[in-house]
Amino acid sequence: MSNEVGKLPSTVPLPIQENDLTDIVSKSKDWALMHGISMRSKTNFTEDGVQISPFILVPTAIPRQEFVKVVELQTTLQELLHKIANNKEFINDCYKDIVEADDFSARLYKMYEQVEEEGTVQKIAMVHLRSDYLMQSSSNNNLKQVEFNTISASFASLSSFITDFNKYVLQELGYPEKLKNIPSNTSLIGLAEGLAEAWSIYNNPNACILFVVEKTVYNIADQRFIEFEINRLFPKIKIIRRMFSYICEQGSLNDKRELIIDNNIVAVTYFRDGYAPSNFPTEKEWAARLLIERSASIKCPDIKYHLIGQKKVQQELTKSGVLEKFLTETKKIEAVREVFMGIYGLEFDEHGDRAVQMALEKPENFVLKPQREGGGYNIYDNDIKELMLKIQNTKERLSYVLMERIFPPTSTGYMIVPGASNPPSLVDLVSELGIYGILISDNEKIIVNKQVGHMLRSKASTSNEGGVLAGAGALDCPYLF
Ligand code: ADP
Ligand code: MG
Ligand code: MG
Repeated sequence: MSNEVGKLPSTVPLPIQENDLTDIVSKSKDWALMHGISMRSKTNFTEDGVQISPFILVPTAIPRQEFVKVVELQTTLQELLHKIANNKEFINDCYKDIVEADDFSARLYKMYEQVEEEGTVQKIAMVHLRSDYLMQSSSNNNLKQVEFNTISASFASLSSFITDFNKYVLQELGYPEKLKNIPSNTSLIGLAEGLAEAWSIYNNPNACILFVVEKTVYNIADQRFIEFEINRLFPKIKIIRRMFSYICEQGSLNDKRELIIDNNIVAVTYFRDGYAPSNFPTEKEWAARLLIERSASIKCPDIKYHLIGQKKVQQELTKSGVLEKFLTETKKIEAVREVFMGIYGLEFDEHGDRAVQMALEKPENFVLKPQREGGGYNIYDNDIKELMLKIQNTKERLSYVLMERIFPPTSTGYMIVPGASNPPSLVDLVSELGIYGILISDNEKIIVNKQVGHMLRSKASTSNEGGVLAGAGALDCPYLF
């Protein structure tokens, strides 16, 4: 495999002349701040202020055909998720080894077993899915799946605003004819309507939607605008925000196992917390998570959909013959397989041993992934080799999967971050595209299966991971060519 990467075309002539650049950066920061492309400061947190969320000044080129390919794939992926989430045998198989090695996975899995045994009172579940892709430079910039997220997928609000923002910038820079190449983005309205749909399925006009949130929320605009959008479209729906610790103390179930918080019946629980071990510092948080899971509220997502979003399951899906168990149409199976990279489990068997060998021999061609979310946990290059040498004979190796590395093409652009000098310098970027979707289903049938918008985020080509919240990435917008 060649690790040489190509270059994407610029969407406007670069560099932008210095005076024009200073002007447009200054205007665009204000536009961003005043239209919700913002977050709270990490260094100087206050509830009374926000600052710009890092963004890329002009949109980034994405091949149209590839964009359409993954947009069209979304509902097939969601059909697949529905099938695996409701297949106990498959979930058990995925988790049988990993529970030995990863405490967080073990805990989630235990909750799944517990509620399955007790019997659930709510068969309907909702997922806000985001499937993420990088272009593979060596294969014609084909989009390949990096991962999918079934819990707390962020940036649906800000991605919708950044689309309008990029139209404004192209207009201001004098390229009105280019606006047509910016795809429309339903990421915010799609999520708001999805939550409202789940709420109406619950069928109690007095019940509310509960957002489960962390104590300190940096990405506040992204969360609040979902709330504001629901308020705008469906003013009758009440929304409350609570932390696990509060829910543990004040929440209860009534005789129908409805979730009651401060005299509100909760129709839908939307998790923006609970995806990482650090979200459960004490038993209280676990108790609250279990209380919600046992309740009649429609969860976004429930425990089974949370479980199947983990990296281990993504690895099991790439094994030969697995897709065929869940999807019947050959066309769909091929379309899903087309976006998969090889992902290998590290079990103590012939396959796992071979994967360990591959990692030791060519670590630069792989990414080693633990069962974690939120960016910054993966291991690259020589660190893979060092870790593997250390853990290859211990059960710890079971907690990782080994994924073939994608080498994306680069583009050139201006990254605007809070406090940076104006005019900014041009930097080399790589971009990751996320496609959002809404799935609502019960244990037998799919009720809603929709693709709803996209997100693009770019990072300096020199950094391995590019979380926007983590500080390495910036919001961006696709320009189709
Ligand atoms: P998380 O759930 O923490 O976001 P990801 O699988 O998305 O985990 O990995 C985090 C980041 O690591 C991605 O956004 C991407 O930049 C990089 N990455 C992950 N998998 C690959 C891969 N196979 N090839 C290249 N980069 C990858
Ligand atoms: Mg993730
Ligand atoms: Mg990710």
